[in-house]
Amino acid sequence: MVSFAEIRKTLAAAGVFDPDFEAREMLREYAGDGALFGGSVTGEAETAIEEALRRRVNGEPLQYIFGKWEFYGYPFYVGKGVLIPRPETELLVDIAVKRLSGGSTVIDLCSGSGCIPVSIALRTGAKCRAVELHEEAFSYLTRNIELNGADVEAVRADALDGTLFPGVTFDAVFSNPPYLTGEEMRTLMREVRHEPETALYGGEDGLDFYRRMIPAWAGRIAHGGFFAAETGDSQSEAVSGIMRDAGLSPETITDYAGIGRVVVGERQ
Ligand code: GLN
Repeated sequence: MVSFAEIRKTLAAAGVFDPDFEAREMLREYAGDGALFGGSVTGEAETAIEEALRRRVNGEPLQYIFGKWEFYGYPFYVGKGVLIPRPETELLVDIAVKRLSGGSTVIDLCSGSGCIPVSIALRTGAKCRAVELHEEAFSYLTRNIELNGADVEAVRADALDGTLFPGVTFDAVFSNPPYLTGEEMRTLMREVRHEPETALYGGEDGLDFYRRMIPAWAGRIAHGGFFAAETGDSQSEAVSGIMRDAGLSPETITDYAGIGRVVVGERQ
């Protein structure tokens, strides 16, 4: 027999940041919404929760244990080898929803799970391409495109190569590249240590990908189109500078915590 209070207590004792949220998610996942209002859980659901708790107490992220997570209201498979979609990344999709339409041509670079291009394709009807280099992440990308029935063309390639899809001009380029600094990599939360370094580490100052990706793709953007990049906590000014150097006019958008989170560089 296991109850919300017991799950919560086990998670809190293991140092989980938000034990209330995770206890709720576990009950919902293995015993259904009704269990939140019921007493205790028994049988198969109990066994599943105990196994999940064992892994979670061991430091594995909840999203990997479930093997899936939600982003922009859509389901995505996740697991070892792919970055877990973060809520702040939904800002990129908000920008797409505001500015794009069914006739738009879009590319997402360093796609990982595919949460960005899949959500943009579904919400705007834009024609989306997605670029991902790493094998495990690429297999999540293709599975998630299929899971959501999204019209996204995925290619396994290096996103720093601005010659991909020759002849195509893009109304918008999106990317949430690896941007953590050397210092941040050395002090990662234990959950994040389960995620692939290739999806997190952006070189010693975290800016390597912006420095190479923005100039490589700026010339592929239609006049009036834009490059929208997610950035780390104190990178928006540096990324704005890189955008300006590439001939784009940058504007910073803040997240719910008031942190500059996305830089949108428009091509005039
Ligand atoms: N937002 C992620 C984190 O804080 C990093 C993702 C990225 O590097 N793009 O762990």
